[in-house]
Amino acid sequence: MSEPDRPRDLDTRLAQACHFIETETGGISPPIHPSSTYARDAQYRHIGDFSYSRSGNPSWRVLEDVCADIDGGAAALCFASGMAAVTSVLETVASGERVVAPRVMYHGSQDWLRRIADRRAIDLALFDATDPGALAAAIRPGKTSLVWIEPLLNPTWDVIDIAAAAELAHAAGALLVVDATVCPPVTTRALEHGADIVFHSATKYLNGHSDLLAGILVSARRDERWAEIEQVRLLTGGVLGPFEAWLLLRGMRTLALRFDRASANALAIARRLEHHPLIERVLYPGLESHPGHEIAARQMTRGFGGMLSLLVRGGGETARSIASSTRVLVPATSLGGVESLIEHRAAVEGPHSAVPQNLLRLSIGIENADDLLADLEQALEQV
Ligand SMILES: *Cc1c(COP(=O)(O)O)cnc(C)c1O
Repeated sequence: MSEPDRPRDLDTRLAQACHFIETETGGISPPIHPSSTYARDAQYRHIGDFSYSRSGNPSWRVLEDVCADIDGGAAALCFASGMAAVTSVLETVASGERVVAPRVMYHGSQDWLRRIADRRAIDLALFDATDPGALAAAIRPGKTSLVWIEPLLNPTWDVIDIAAAAELAHAAGALLVVDATVCPPVTTRALEHGADIVFHSATKYLNGHSDLLAGILVSARRDERWAEIEQVRLLTGGVLGPFEAWLLLRGMRTLALRFDRASANALAIARRLEHHPLIERVLYPGLESHPGHEIAARQMTRGFGGMLSLLVRGGGETARSIASSTRVLVPATSLGGVESLIEHRAAVEGPHSAVPQNLLRLSIGIENADDLLADLEQALEQV
């Protein structure tokens, strides 16, 4: 296979992701390599670069090259799911070290942090991201090895300044890991803001079609820590199948288009519902009224994405009945797909949840914005 010179613009690079021309056939979509093992030659050397598929294979290589490129990193690793990537990073934290993370964040990552804190004597400090001094206060120089943030906190969409967090983490000798699942590299390139490692649940925007699970890590450097994470992937075996690797690449080709449309739809919906009598507040960083709007505008260069939450008047009951009265928005968890989803978030997160009972989380897709608005308005009128 030959690879043409890389064109400069991100949209072009995404549209032509893995735009190899196979020299043998002229095929412009990459082949899928299902082989689990790779043969040796007469000198007992491996014929190509691969030995066994859990340590590496050609289907990962094209995907990881594209992911490293679009996030501007030195290297990327793909995993069987977002959580397989999250747990692999956290596996490199040693007993006694401090990990700092937001109090409100993706519940799965926080549940894992709580588990390793209990079982491995890791000192977990959860900070209130709405309090400007809280992150600095939570970091202990020399003791804190890792700071984990989300630029938009799920599901309140409060904003964390990546560059400021990087400065604090680095001054204390800690690593900054950014869960950029809701801020894909078309809008935020977290490494450019100072992150050491960027994580994406590729199940969401990168793939965009709600038809696979995958996780991606991109690192600013190929260093010891990175080699250890790769070793954890090899030994724990949370590896992506070659078919999923191929399907993810196909989804990524339309990332820019999907993200632009979802952002435009979500902004239109947020603006319309902001003054709706049955809604107490719309939480969307694209609204000028959002407390994190200025920082979000600085680090989301191309729209604020499709994630927004509604605080409805009334309690959990009202919120749940709205979520079950939509006809266009699908009542399901997850995000970042072409189809819009709605969920009563507190019910999904379980006992540790700090999410208000009257919060509905919406993942806005690429449908017609008027259809989505009419659907939400009729659901609100049902209650
Ligand atoms: C979905 C999600 C994850 C976990 O990813 P999976 O692919 O479901 O394992 C982590 N962080 C965020 C912000 C997510 O939305």
